[in-house]
Amino acid sequence: MARRHNEPMRAETVIATHGNTDFDAFAALLAARRLYPDAVACLSGSLNRNVREFYRLHADELALAEASRLETDAIRRLIVVETTHAGRLGELEAVALDPGVEKVVFDHHAGEPPEWASEHTVLSDDGALTTTLVGILAEREIAVSPLEATAFALGIHEDTGSLTYPTATQRDAEALGWCLRHGARQELLAEFLHSPLTEEERELLAAILEALESRELAGVEVLTGAVAWPRYVDGVSNLAHKVVELTDCKALVLLVEMDERVFCVSRSRTPEIDAAEIAQLLGGGGHPQAASAIFRGSLKDARARLDEGLPQAVRTPLTAGRLMSSPARTVEPDETVAKALVACQRYAQSGILVAEGERLAGVVGREDLDRAVAHGLSHAPVKGIMSTRVATCEEATPLAELQRLLSSGDDRVAVLRDERIVGVVTRSDLLRALGAQAAHVERLGPMLIDELNRLGRLQRVFEAVAAVSEPFEGVYLVGGTVRDILLRERSFDVDVAVEGDAIALAQALADTLGGRVRTHQKFGTAVVIYGEDERVDVVTARTEFYDAPAALPTVEHASIREDLFRRDFTINAMAVSLKGADLGRLVDPFAGRRDLDARTIRVLHNLSFIDDPTRIFRAIRYENRLGFRMDEHTLRLARGTIEMGLVGDLSSARLRDELEALLEEGEIEHSILRLAELGADQAIHPHLAADEEAVSLVRRLGELSGRYGLEIPSWRLGLTVLARKLPPDEVYEWLQRLKVRRRDAEQIAAAVTVGPRLVERLQNGAEPAEVVALAEPYAPDAPLFALVLADLAPLHAYFERLRDIHLDVTGADLAELGLAESPRVGEILAELRRRKLNGELDGRDSELAAAKELIAQ
Ligand code: ATP
Ligand code: MG
Repeated sequence: MARRHNEPMRAETVIATHGNTDFDAFAALLAARRLYPDAVACLSGSLNRNVREFYRLHADELALAEASRLETDAIRRLIVVETTHAGRLGELEAVALDPGVEKVVFDHHAGEPPEWASEHTVLSDDGALTTTLVGILAEREIAVSPLEATAFALGIHEDTGSLTYPTATQRDAEALGWCLRHGARQELLAEFLHSPLTEEERELLAAILEALESRELAGVEVLTGAVAWPRYVDGVSNLAHKVVELTDCKALVLLVEMDERVFCVSRSRTPEIDAAEIAQLLGGGGHPQAASAIFRGSLKDARARLDEGLPQAVRTPLTAGRLMSSPARTVEPDETVAKALVACQRYAQSGILVAEGERLAGVVGREDLDRAVAHGLSHAPVKGIMSTRVATCEEATPLAELQRLLSSGDDRVAVLRDERIVGVVTRSDLLRALGAQAAHVERLGPMLIDELNRLGRLQRVFEAVAAVSEPFEGVYLVGGTVRDILLRERSFDVDVAVEGDAIALAQALADTLGGRVRTHQKFGTAVVIYGEDERVDVVTARTEFYDAPAALPTVEHASIREDLFRRDFTINAMAVSLKGADLGRLVDPFAGRRDLDARTIRVLHNLSFIDDPTRIFRAIRYENRLGFRMDEHTLRLARGTIEMGLVGDLSSARLRDELEALLEEGEIEHSILRLAELGADQAIHPHLAADEEAVSLVRRLGELSGRYGLEIPSWRLGLTVLARKLPPDEVYEWLQRLKVRRRDAEQIAAAVTVGPRLVERLQNGAEPAEVVALAEPYAPDAPLFALVLADLAPLHAYFERLRDIHLDVTGADLAELGLAESPRVGEILAELRRRKLNGELDGRDSELAAAKELIAQ
C-alpha cells in the first residue's frame, strides 16, 4: 500500500481544488467525484489543519491522490472546485491553463467565470459550495457513504459558520439535513469544527488584539489590526473570526505581513460596509460579509492603500425613503368594502391603507375584506372593519428596522412625513431593494375560471375536489395539466398536487365521484379511477432537497411553490388552485404563461440540467411536440451540461423512460436532429447515430410497420435506428445498461446485428422457405429493419404473405399416420412447411399425402 502512494499515475479526468484546502473545498472535491465516477480526485497543496487531521484518520477510505503523482500529460479534463483562480491549484496550474485540456469549474460567490475555463463554469449562490453539489447528488439520488456525508456536513458548517453567516441560505440548512439523513456523524462534527488554536496562533492572536485600532466609517465602528509576523501562520481568517467573536465588532480588517506577503482578511456584519470592496483594495475579493486578499507588497503600502480606500467600502444605506412605493394607494374610510377589495385585486395587493386625505386612518387586509363580503357586508364602509393600529416609519428609517417591522406581523408600513402619508413599504419593496428575484414576490395570479369551465367532462372532478378540499392546505392542478389547459389541448392527464396527505384526498375524492383508489403508500401517491376508466393522479407537493418520501419517516408537506421550483421548465411550473374559495387561481411564479405565449422552453434555474440531465431529453421532446424552442440561455445550459460530461454514463431507468417518450412521439425529425446538434446522442453512447439518415429510416420503419400491421412500439424502432452503428457486441450490453426490458432489447439487438445480414443473404433472391427460415427467428424487428436498409422483394413477400403460411396438419395427424413421437416428427413438419412455402403443397389433403410419403421413406 505505502509504496503505491509514490507511484506515478495516469488519469484522464482529474478533480482538484485550491491549496490551503478548507472543509468546503475538501467536501466539494469528494462530492464532485460522485458526479464523475471515473475521475481521480486529488489534493494539490497543503490542507487546513482540521482538514488535515480529518484526512489523516480516513485517508485509506477516502482514497485521494497527490497531485504530484499525476502524469499531467494524460489529463484530458480537469474538474476544479471552490476556486476560479488557476494560480491556486499548485502543480495543476499549468494543466488548468493548457487550452488542450477541457475544464469544468464549480464555485460559489465567484462573480465572473474565469477566462481559462470559459463556458463550463457552474457558479452558485449557496453559502457553501458543498451545498450546491449535495443538491445535485440529492436530485440525482446518488448514494454516499456516512464518511462522505460527514465531510459534506463539515464543509457546510465551516463555510456558513454553522448556518449563522448572513450568506447561509435555506438550501444550506436543507443540505445539512440531507447529510445527517445520510449518516453524517454528529460527534465528529464538533470535534473537527472547533479545533483549538495552536500556540503560534495564540501568539499571533494576542499580537493582533494588541494592535487593533478603532475608526469610524459611516457611523459604524471598524476595527483594523496590522501586524508583521516572522513566520507563516495558517488560518488568518480563523483568527479574524475569533477577533470578531471577542470584540463583537461590526467590521474588521486584519493585515498580517508574513512570508514576504501581506495577508488581508476583511469581515463585515453590517450592510453599510462591504468587505469585498475592502479586499479589492489589495487585489483580492470575496463577498460583502467576508473577503480576503494576498498583497505582494509591504505592510506599510497595504496600510496606506487601506487608509485611502476604506471610504469606498461604504454603501449608501437603504432607507424607507429610497425603497418605498410612492405615492401609496389608499381608500377613504367611508369607501365601501367592495371598492376596497376591487382595489386590492386590481393591484394585486394583500391589503390597503385607509386615509382621510393625506392623513393615515388605518389599514385593512384582503382576507378581512373577503370575509366581510362573504358576510354580505360589501356595501359597509371600510372603517367598520379596518384596524387603526398601523405600522409607520419615517423616510430615514433604515432597512434593518423595516425588516423587523415586516417580519413581526405587519404587511405594510406607512411612511409618514409630518403626519402625511408619503409612501408605503411592503415585503415586495424590500425584496426589490435587496435585489431578490421578482419571482419570490407574493402576487396573486389571475383566475382561470373560463378555462376550467370549458373543460366540460372535468367539471364534476373540479367540483368534487373543491368539495373535499377543506382540510387540506392547498389543492392544485399542476404541471403538464395546466400547460395543456392553457394550450387548449383536448386530452391530457389530470395531475393534482396536494399540500397535505395525497392519499387522504384521493380517498375522499373517490368517495365523492363514486370511483376507486389505487395507492402507492411508499411514494405517498394515489390514482383515483372513476367513470369510464378516467383517472386523476394525486401526489403530495414535493419540496427542494428531500429524498423520495419513502426514505423519510414522514412525508414533508410543502408549499406548492417549492414543488413548482423542482419542475423542469417554466411552462410546466404552473398550478391552478382547486380549493373552494380560490378555485381557478393561477399560480405562476416563473412566468410560465409568458413563455407559453412566446413558445419558449426555459429552465427555472442554471443548475437544472446538471441536477437532472434527463430534462435535456424532455426539452427536446417538448420542442418537437409543441413546436416550441429552448431559449438561448437554456440551450447553452443544455450544451454545457453535455460538454461537461455530466450526462455521462447515465444507466438509469429514468433515462430509458425519457428516451422512450422522446421516440414515441409521432414525427420525430426535429428530436433526432436536435439530439445530434446538442451532442446528446454521443453523450449517451459514443456510437449512437442521430443523423438525416436516421430521420428517414425511422420514418420508413414507421410506415412499413403500419402497413404490415406490426405492433412494434415506435420507440423500439427509434432505438434500433439510433443504435444501428454500434458494434454487435456493444448493442445488447448497452441496452441492458439502459435497463431496456429483455424482450425489447433482444428484438433491437437482433435488428441491428441480423438486419444487415438478412440483406446480404437475400439481395440475390431466395426461395420463400429460405426467406422464412432466415427471418422468422428474429421477426418482426430484424426483417423489418432489413427492409428499410434494402427494399427487397423477398422481405415484402415475407410480411405480406409468407409469415402467415402455416401447415394445416399437426403432430397429432402424423401420430395418426403411425409416426411415433420422436425428432422425426419435427423434421417432417419442417419439411412440409418448406414445401408449402415454396408452393409445392396446397391444403390439408396434399399435406397429408406428402406426410405419408415422407413417413414411408
Ligand atoms: P406528457 O404529456 O408527455 O405526459 P407532461 O408534461 O405531463 O407530458 P410528465 O412526464 O407526465 O410530463 O411529467 C409530469 C410533470 O412532472 C411535468 O409537467 C413536469 O412538471 C414534471 N417533471 C417530469 N419529469 C421531470 C424532471 N425530470 N424534472 C423536473 N420536473 C419533471
Ligand atoms: Mg403527464
